[in-house]
Amino acid sequence: MILIKNARPHDVLLDGATIKKVGKISEKAEQTIDAKGLVVVPGLVDMHVHFREPGREDKETIASGAAAAIAGGFTSVAVMANSGRVCDDAVGVVYVQAKSREAGGANVYAVGAVTKGLKGEELAELGKMSEAGAVAFSDDGMAITNSELMRRALEYSKMFDKPILAHCEDTTLTRGFVMNEGRVSAKLGLRGYPNAAEAVMAARDCYLAALTGGHVHVCHVSAKETVDVVRRAKKQGIRVTAEAAPHHLMLTDEALLDYESKYKMNPPLRTREDVDAVLEGVVDGTIDAIASDHAPHTAEEKEQELAACPNGIIGLETTLGVILSLKKIPFDRAIDAMTAAPARILGLKGKGALKAGVDADLTLIDPKASWTVDPASFRSMGRCTPYEKMKLTGRAAKVIVGGRLCS
Ligand SMILES: [Zn+2]
Ligand SMILES: [Zn+2]
Repeated sequence: MILIKNARPHDVLLDGATIKKVGKISEKAEQTIDAKGLVVVPGLVDMHVHFREPGREDKETIASGAAAAIAGGFTSVAVMANSGRVCDDAVGVVYVQAKSREAGGANVYAVGAVTKGLKGEELAELGKMSEAGAVAFSDDGMAITNSELMRRALEYSKMFDKPILAHCEDTTLTRGFVMNEGRVSAKLGLRGYPNAAEAVMAARDCYLAALTGGHVHVCHVSAKETVDVVRRAKKQGIRVTAEAAPHHLMLTDEALLDYESKYKMNPPLRTREDVDAVLEGVVDGTIDAIASDHAPHTAEEKEQELAACPNGIIGLETTLGVILSLKKIPFDRAIDAMTAAPARILGLKGKGALKAGVDADLTLIDPKASWTVDPASFRSMGRCTPYEKMKLTGRAAKVIVGGRLCS
Protein backbone atom coordinates (compact mmCIF):
# COMPACT_ATOMS: atom_id res chain seq x y z
CA MET A 1 0.00 0.00 0.00
CA ILE A 2 1.15 3.53 -0.80
CA LEU A 3 -0.21 6.56 1.02
CA ILE A 4 -0.05 9.98 -0.59
CA LYS A 5 -0.14 12.39 2.30
CA ASN A 6 -0.60 16.18 2.52
CA ALA A 7 -1.59 16.63 -1.12
CA ARG A 8 -4.36 18.99 -2.13
CA PRO A 9 -7.30 18.47 -2.14
CA HIS A 10 -7.03 15.15 -0.27
CA ASP A 11 -4.91 12.16 0.72
CA VAL A 12 -4.99 9.06 -1.47
CA LEU A 13 -4.37 5.47 -0.43
CA LEU A 14 -3.34 2.96 -3.08
CA ASP A 15 -3.67 -0.79 -2.78
CA GLY A 16 -1.60 -2.34 -5.55
CA ALA A 17 -2.91 -1.15 -8.89
CA THR A 18 -6.17 0.22 -7.44
CA ILE A 19 -7.13 3.34 -5.51
CA LYS A 20 -8.41 2.19 -2.12
CA LYS A 21 -9.47 5.41 -0.48
CA VAL A 22 -9.61 9.14 -1.12
CA GLY A 23 -10.10 11.73 1.64
CA LYS A 24 -8.65 12.26 5.08
CA ILE A 25 -6.66 9.10 5.75
CA SER A 26 -5.17 8.11 9.10
CA GLU A 27 -4.22 4.53 8.19
CA LYS A 28 -0.58 3.53 7.97
CA ALA A 29 0.96 2.25 4.73
CA GLU A 30 4.23 0.56 3.77
CA GLN A 31 5.23 3.60 1.77
CA THR A 32 4.22 7.19 2.37
CA ILE A 33 4.78 9.95 -0.17
CA ASP A 34 4.80 13.40 1.36
CA ALA A 35 3.04 15.53 -1.24
CA LYS A 36 3.08 18.82 0.59
CA GLY A 37 2.57 21.69 -1.87
CA LEU A 38 1.41 19.33 -4.62
CA VAL A 39 -2.02 18.85 -6.17
CA VAL A 40 -3.12 15.27 -6.78
CA VAL A 41 -5.20 14.66 -9.92
CA PRO A 42 -6.15 11.56 -11.91
CA GLY A 43 -3.33 10.41 -14.19
CA LEU A 44 -3.38 12.73 -17.23
CA VAL A 45 -4.67 11.28 -20.51
CA ASP A 46 -3.47 12.52 -23.91
CA MET A 47 -5.87 11.23 -26.53
CA HIS A 48 -3.86 12.31 -29.57
CA VAL A 49 -0.18 11.47 -30.02
CA HIS A 50 1.98 10.13 -32.84
CA PHE A 51 4.71 7.64 -32.06
CA ARG A 52 6.52 6.29 -35.09
CA GLU A 53 6.92 2.60 -34.32
CA PRO A 54 6.80 0.37 -36.26
CA GLY A 55 8.63 1.80 -39.25
CA ARG A 56 10.17 5.10 -38.21
CA GLU A 57 11.93 4.26 -34.95
CA ASP A 58 14.47 6.99 -35.79
CA LYS A 59 11.75 9.54 -34.94
CA GLU A 60 10.11 7.99 -31.86
CA THR A 61 9.60 4.51 -30.46
CA ILE A 62 6.68 3.42 -28.33
CA ALA A 63 9.13 3.19 -25.41
CA SER A 64 10.56 6.70 -25.89
CA GLY A 65 7.08 8.10 -26.39
CA ALA A 66 5.76 6.35 -23.29
CA ALA A 67 8.70 7.76 -21.30
CA ALA A 68 8.04 11.26 -22.66
CA ALA A 69 4.42 10.88 -21.57
CA ILE A 70 5.48 10.10 -18.00
CA ALA A 71 7.92 13.02 -17.98
CA GLY A 72 5.03 15.28 -18.98
CA GLY A 73 2.66 13.86 -16.35
CA PHE A 74 0.60 11.66 -18.71
CA THR A 75 -0.22 8.13 -17.56
CA SER A 76 -2.26 7.18 -20.63
CA VAL A 77 -1.97 8.14 -24.29
CA ALA A 78 -3.76 7.12 -27.48
CA VAL A 79 -1.42 6.70 -30.41
CA MET A 80 -2.61 7.44 -33.94
CA ALA A 81 -2.44 4.84 -36.69
CA ASN A 82 -0.05 6.61 -39.09
CA SER A 83 3.26 5.07 -38.00
CA GLY A 84 5.69 3.65 -40.59
CA ARG A 85 3.48 0.58 -40.79
CA VAL A 86 -0.11 1.79 -40.62
CA CYS A 87 -2.11 0.31 -37.74
CA ASP A 88 -5.03 -0.86 -39.87
CA ASP A 89 -5.58 -4.40 -38.59
CA ALA A 90 -5.71 -6.39 -35.35
CA VAL A 91 -2.00 -7.27 -35.62
CA GLY A 92 -1.13 -3.57 -35.53
CA VAL A 93 -3.28 -3.03 -32.43
CA VAL A 94 -1.77 -5.99 -30.59
CA TYR A 95 1.73 -4.80 -31.53
CA VAL A 96 1.16 -1.40 -29.88
CA GLN A 97 -0.19 -3.08 -26.74
CA ALA A 98 2.75 -5.50 -26.48
CA LYS A 99 5.32 -2.73 -26.97
CA SER A 100 3.53 -0.59 -24.41
CA ARG A 101 3.66 -3.36 -21.79
CA GLU A 102 7.33 -3.95 -22.55
CA ALA A 103 8.12 -0.22 -22.22
CA GLY A 104 6.54 0.03 -18.77
CA GLY A 105 5.89 3.77 -19.03
CA ALA A 106 2.49 5.26 -19.70
CA ASN A 107 -0.38 3.08 -20.91
CA VAL A 108 -0.36 3.31 -24.69
CA TYR A 109 -3.71 2.70 -26.39
CA ALA A 110 -3.97 2.03 -30.11
CA VAL A 111 -6.17 4.02 -32.47
CA GLY A 112 -6.95 1.95 -35.55
CA ALA A 113 -7.01 3.39 -39.06
CA VAL A 114 -10.43 4.05 -40.61
CA THR A 115 -9.26 3.08 -44.10
CA LYS A 116 -6.74 0.51 -45.27
CA GLY A 117 -3.28 2.06 -45.49
CA LEU A 118 -4.86 5.47 -44.74
CA LYS A 119 -5.59 5.62 -48.46
CA GLY A 120 -9.16 6.81 -48.01
CA GLU A 121 -10.47 4.18 -50.41
CA GLU A 122 -11.57 1.11 -48.50
CA LEU A 123 -12.69 0.68 -44.87
CA ALA A 124 -10.22 -1.15 -42.65
CA GLU A 125 -11.42 -4.02 -40.43
CA LEU A 126 -12.82 -1.89 -37.65
CA GLY A 127 -14.56 -4.85 -35.98
CA LYS A 128 -11.41 -6.91 -35.64
CA MET A 129 -9.40 -3.93 -34.43
CA SER A 130 -12.11 -3.09 -31.92
CA GLU A 131 -12.07 -6.66 -30.63
CA ALA A 132 -8.27 -6.47 -30.30
CA GLY A 133 -8.61 -3.35 -28.15
CA ALA A 134 -8.48 -0.31 -30.46
CA VAL A 135 -10.06 2.56 -28.51
CA ALA A 136 -11.08 4.66 -31.54
CA PHE A 137 -10.58 4.95 -35.28
CA SER A 138 -8.80 7.65 -37.23
CA ASP A 139 -6.95 8.36 -40.44
CA ASP A 140 -5.38 11.36 -38.68
CA GLY A 141 -2.70 12.99 -40.75
CA MET A 142 -4.99 12.40 -43.71
CA ALA A 143 -8.49 13.73 -44.25
CA ILE A 144 -11.27 11.34 -45.27
CA THR A 145 -12.43 13.24 -48.33
CA ASN A 146 -15.00 10.68 -49.47
CA SER A 147 -18.22 11.53 -47.61
CA GLU A 148 -19.86 8.18 -48.34
CA LEU A 149 -16.88 6.39 -46.81
CA MET A 150 -17.06 8.64 -43.74
CA ARG A 151 -20.74 7.86 -43.44
CA ARG A 152 -20.06 4.13 -43.46
CA ALA A 153 -17.19 4.53 -40.99
CA LEU A 154 -19.56 6.27 -38.56
CA GLU A 155 -22.24 3.61 -39.04
CA TYR A 156 -19.73 0.84 -38.51
CA SER A 157 -17.92 2.34 -35.51
CA LYS A 158 -21.28 3.01 -33.85
CA MET A 159 -21.77 -0.77 -33.61
CA PHE A 160 -18.72 -0.90 -31.30
CA ASP A 161 -19.58 2.36 -29.56
CA LYS A 162 -16.22 3.87 -30.51
CA PRO A 163 -15.59 7.33 -31.94
CA ILE A 164 -14.13 8.37 -35.27
CA LEU A 165 -11.39 10.92 -34.55
CA ALA A 166 -11.68 13.27 -37.49
CA HIS A 167 -8.81 15.24 -38.99
CA CYS A 168 -11.05 17.89 -40.54
CA GLU A 169 -9.38 19.36 -43.62
CA ASP A 170 -10.83 19.96 -47.06
CA THR A 171 -7.59 19.21 -48.89
CA THR A 172 -8.83 20.77 -52.12
CA LEU A 173 -8.57 24.10 -50.27
CA THR A 174 -5.21 23.48 -48.60
CA ARG A 175 -2.96 22.19 -51.37
CA GLY A 176 0.68 23.13 -50.75
CA PHE A 177 -0.14 25.15 -47.65
CA VAL A 178 2.65 26.28 -45.38
CA MET A 179 0.66 28.28 -42.83
CA ASN A 180 -2.65 29.93 -41.99
CA GLU A 181 -4.23 31.89 -44.84
CA GLY A 182 -4.49 35.53 -43.83
CA ARG A 183 -2.66 38.80 -43.45
CA VAL A 184 0.63 37.18 -42.38
CA SER A 185 0.70 34.61 -45.20
CA ALA A 186 0.01 37.38 -47.71
CA LYS A 187 2.86 39.42 -46.29
CA LEU A 188 5.27 36.47 -46.38
CA GLY A 189 4.07 35.25 -49.77
CA LEU A 190 3.38 31.77 -48.43
CA ARG A 191 0.53 29.45 -49.39
CA GLY A 192 -2.25 29.45 -46.84
CA TYR A 193 -4.77 27.07 -45.27
CA PRO A 194 -8.01 29.00 -44.75
CA ASN A 195 -10.17 28.52 -41.65
CA ALA A 196 -13.01 27.45 -43.93
CA ALA A 197 -11.13 24.31 -45.03
CA GLU A 198 -11.30 23.03 -41.45
CA ALA A 199 -14.81 24.27 -40.65
CA VAL A 200 -16.54 22.85 -43.74
CA MET A 201 -15.20 19.37 -43.00
CA ALA A 202 -16.13 19.63 -39.33
CA ALA A 203 -19.64 20.65 -40.41
CA ARG A 204 -19.86 17.77 -42.87
CA ASP A 205 -18.77 15.33 -40.17
CA CYS A 206 -21.32 16.71 -37.70
CA TYR A 207 -24.10 16.27 -40.28
CA LEU A 208 -22.90 12.73 -40.97
CA ALA A 209 -22.87 12.00 -37.23
CA ALA A 210 -26.46 13.28 -37.10
CA LEU A 211 -27.40 11.10 -40.06
CA THR A 212 -25.84 7.93 -38.66
CA GLY A 213 -26.03 8.39 -34.90
CA GLY A 214 -22.29 7.75 -34.85
CA HIS A 215 -19.83 9.60 -32.61
CA VAL A 216 -17.49 12.01 -34.36
CA HIS A 217 -14.65 13.64 -32.46
CA VAL A 218 -13.14 16.73 -34.10
CA CYS A 219 -9.37 16.68 -33.66
CA HIS A 220 -7.20 19.76 -33.06
CA VAL A 221 -9.76 22.56 -33.47
CA SER A 222 -7.84 25.63 -34.65
CA ALA A 223 -10.36 27.94 -36.34
CA LYS A 224 -13.04 30.05 -34.67
CA GLU A 225 -15.58 28.85 -37.26
CA THR A 226 -14.96 25.25 -36.18
CA VAL A 227 -15.71 26.15 -32.56
CA ASP A 228 -19.05 27.55 -33.78
CA VAL A 229 -19.78 24.41 -35.79
CA VAL A 230 -19.15 22.14 -32.78
CA ARG A 231 -21.09 24.40 -30.42
CA ARG A 232 -24.13 24.41 -32.69
CA ALA A 233 -23.97 20.66 -33.32
CA LYS A 234 -23.84 19.96 -29.59
CA LYS A 235 -26.89 22.15 -29.03
CA GLN A 236 -28.71 20.04 -31.61
CA GLY A 237 -27.85 16.88 -29.68
CA ILE A 238 -25.45 15.52 -32.28
CA ARG A 239 -22.87 13.08 -30.92
CA VAL A 240 -19.84 15.28 -31.38
CA THR A 241 -16.85 15.91 -29.13
CA ALA A 242 -13.74 17.94 -29.82
CA GLU A 243 -10.19 18.60 -28.71
CA ALA A 244 -7.74 21.49 -28.90
CA ALA A 245 -3.94 21.40 -28.90
CA PRO A 246 -1.85 23.61 -26.59
CA HIS A 247 -0.19 25.47 -29.48
CA HIS A 248 -3.58 26.57 -30.81
CA LEU A 249 -4.36 27.93 -27.34
CA MET A 250 -1.15 29.96 -27.02
CA LEU A 251 0.49 30.87 -30.34
CA THR A 252 -0.56 32.79 -33.45
CA ASP A 253 0.56 32.80 -37.10
CA GLU A 254 2.67 35.89 -36.36
CA ALA A 255 5.19 33.40 -34.93
CA LEU A 256 6.05 32.47 -38.53
CA LEU A 257 7.41 35.92 -39.41
CA ASP A 258 10.93 34.49 -39.07
CA TYR A 259 10.11 31.43 -41.19
CA GLU A 260 10.92 28.96 -38.39
CA SER A 261 9.83 25.37 -38.88
CA LYS A 262 9.09 24.88 -35.18
CA TYR A 263 5.88 26.80 -35.86
CA LYS A 264 4.78 24.62 -38.77
CA MET A 265 2.02 22.15 -38.09
CA ASN A 266 -1.31 20.93 -39.46
CA PRO A 267 -3.69 22.59 -38.78
CA PRO A 268 -1.56 25.73 -38.72
CA LEU A 269 -1.29 28.42 -36.07
CA ARG A 270 -4.13 30.89 -36.60
CA THR A 271 -4.87 34.47 -35.58
CA ARG A 272 -5.40 35.94 -32.11
CA GLU A 273 -9.15 35.91 -32.76
CA ASP A 274 -9.04 32.18 -33.41
CA VAL A 275 -6.88 31.50 -30.34
CA ASP A 276 -9.37 33.40 -28.19
CA ALA A 277 -12.32 31.51 -29.70
CA VAL A 278 -10.65 28.13 -29.14
CA LEU A 279 -9.81 29.15 -25.56
CA GLU A 280 -13.42 30.16 -25.00
CA GLY A 281 -14.50 26.80 -26.43
CA VAL A 282 -12.30 24.94 -23.95
CA VAL A 283 -13.48 27.07 -21.02
CA ASP A 284 -17.20 26.61 -21.77
CA GLY A 285 -16.79 22.90 -22.56
CA THR A 286 -17.64 23.11 -26.27
CA ILE A 287 -14.16 21.68 -26.73
CA ASP A 288 -14.05 18.71 -24.39
CA ALA A 289 -10.40 17.73 -24.33
CA ILE A 290 -6.87 19.09 -24.59
CA ALA A 291 -4.49 16.87 -26.56
CA SER A 292 -0.90 17.49 -27.59
CA ASP A 293 -0.88 16.14 -31.18
CA HIS A 294 2.71 15.16 -30.26
CA ALA A 295 4.33 14.59 -33.67
CA PRO A 296 8.08 13.93 -33.65
CA HIS A 297 10.29 14.27 -36.72
CA THR A 298 14.05 14.02 -37.12
CA ALA A 299 16.14 17.18 -36.77
CA GLU A 300 17.26 16.86 -40.41
CA GLU A 301 13.66 16.87 -41.60
CA LYS A 302 12.65 19.84 -39.50
CA GLU A 303 15.79 21.81 -40.44
CA GLN A 304 14.74 21.99 -44.09
CA GLU A 305 13.33 25.25 -45.41
CA LEU A 306 9.82 26.04 -44.25
CA ALA A 307 7.98 24.97 -47.41
CA ALA A 308 9.75 21.59 -47.51
CA CYS A 309 9.81 20.58 -43.84
CA PRO A 310 7.12 18.23 -42.48
CA ASN A 311 4.24 19.43 -40.32
CA GLY A 312 4.32 18.69 -36.61
CA ILE A 313 5.93 19.46 -33.29
CA ILE A 314 6.29 17.50 -30.09
CA GLY A 315 4.18 18.30 -27.06
CA LEU A 316 3.95 15.59 -24.41
CA GLU A 317 6.52 17.17 -22.12
CA THR A 318 5.23 20.74 -22.40
CA THR A 319 1.42 20.43 -22.56
CA LEU A 320 0.74 20.64 -18.82
CA GLY A 321 3.18 23.53 -18.30
CA VAL A 322 1.81 25.46 -21.29
CA ILE A 323 -1.82 25.03 -20.23
CA LEU A 324 -1.17 26.02 -16.60
CA SER A 325 1.04 28.96 -17.64
CA LEU A 326 -1.71 30.39 -19.86
CA LYS A 327 -3.80 31.07 -16.76
CA LYS A 328 -6.85 31.37 -19.02
CA ILE A 329 -8.54 28.05 -18.31
CA PRO A 330 -9.73 27.44 -14.73
CA PHE A 331 -7.54 24.73 -13.13
CA ASP A 332 -10.34 22.21 -12.65
CA ARG A 333 -11.58 22.58 -16.25
CA ALA A 334 -8.02 22.24 -17.58
CA ILE A 335 -7.52 19.05 -15.58
CA ASP A 336 -10.92 17.70 -16.65
CA ALA A 337 -9.91 18.34 -20.29
CA MET A 338 -6.78 16.23 -19.72
CA THR A 339 -8.36 13.45 -17.60
CA ALA A 340 -12.09 12.70 -17.37
CA ALA A 341 -13.02 14.13 -20.79
CA PRO A 342 -10.57 12.13 -22.93
CA ALA A 343 -11.13 8.99 -20.82
CA ARG A 344 -14.89 9.33 -21.42
CA ILE A 345 -14.50 9.97 -25.17
CA LEU A 346 -12.27 6.92 -25.59
CA GLY A 347 -14.20 4.76 -23.12
CA LEU A 348 -11.13 4.07 -20.97
CA LYS A 349 -12.51 2.21 -17.96
CA GLY A 350 -10.86 3.03 -14.63
CA LYS A 351 -9.02 6.06 -16.10
CA GLY A 352 -9.48 9.79 -15.72
CA ALA A 353 -11.02 9.61 -12.24
CA LEU A 354 -9.80 9.87 -8.68
CA LYS A 355 -12.00 7.72 -6.45
CA ALA A 356 -11.98 4.38 -4.66
CA GLY A 357 -11.98 1.40 -6.99
CA VAL A 358 -10.43 2.95 -10.11
CA ASP A 359 -6.91 2.34 -11.44
CA ALA A 360 -4.07 3.76 -9.36
CA ASP A 361 -2.91 6.18 -12.07
CA LEU A 362 -2.12 9.55 -10.52
CA THR A 363 -0.30 12.74 -11.37
CA LEU A 364 1.06 14.97 -8.62
CA ILE A 365 1.35 18.51 -9.94
CA ASP A 366 3.57 21.23 -8.55
CA PRO A 367 1.57 24.28 -9.71
CA LYS A 368 4.28 26.70 -8.60
CA ALA A 369 7.31 25.00 -10.15
CA SER A 370 8.91 27.39 -12.58
CA TRP A 371 11.09 25.86 -15.28
CA THR A 372 12.61 26.61 -18.64
CA VAL A 373 11.89 24.35 -21.61
CA ASP A 374 15.10 22.62 -22.67
CA PRO A 375 14.58 20.19 -25.55
CA ALA A 376 17.95 18.54 -24.80
CA SER A 377 16.45 17.18 -21.58
CA PHE A 378 13.40 15.63 -23.29
CA ARG A 379 12.71 11.92 -23.07
CA SER A 380 11.09 12.15 -26.49
CA MET A 381 13.42 11.56 -29.43
CA GLY A 382 11.87 14.62 -31.05
CA ARG A 383 13.42 18.01 -30.33
CA CYS A 384 11.29 20.38 -32.34
CA THR A 385 9.19 22.47 -29.96
CA PRO A 386 7.91 26.02 -30.30
CA TYR A 387 8.38 26.45 -26.55
CA GLU A 388 12.17 26.13 -26.54
CA LYS A 389 13.67 28.40 -23.86
CA MET A 390 10.19 29.47 -22.74
CA LYS A 391 9.68 29.91 -19.00
CA LEU A 392 6.68 27.92 -17.78
CA THR A 393 5.00 27.64 -14.40
CA GLY A 394 3.61 24.28 -13.30
CA ARG A 395 4.72 20.77 -14.02
CA ALA A 396 4.27 17.16 -12.97
CA ALA A 397 6.34 16.36 -9.88
CA LYS A 398 5.45 12.68 -9.49
CA VAL A 399 3.63 10.21 -11.66
CA ILE A 400 2.12 6.89 -10.60
CA VAL A 401 0.95 4.29 -13.13
CA GLY A 402 -0.88 1.18 -11.93
CA GLY A 403 0.31 1.81 -8.38
CA ARG A 404 3.94 2.08 -9.50
CA LEU A 405 5.91 5.28 -8.91
CA CYS A 406 7.37 6.14 -12.33
CA SER A 407 9.02 9.49 -11.69
ZN1 LIG B 1 -4.51 15.75 -37.67
ZN1 LIG C 1 -2.27 14.29 -35.27
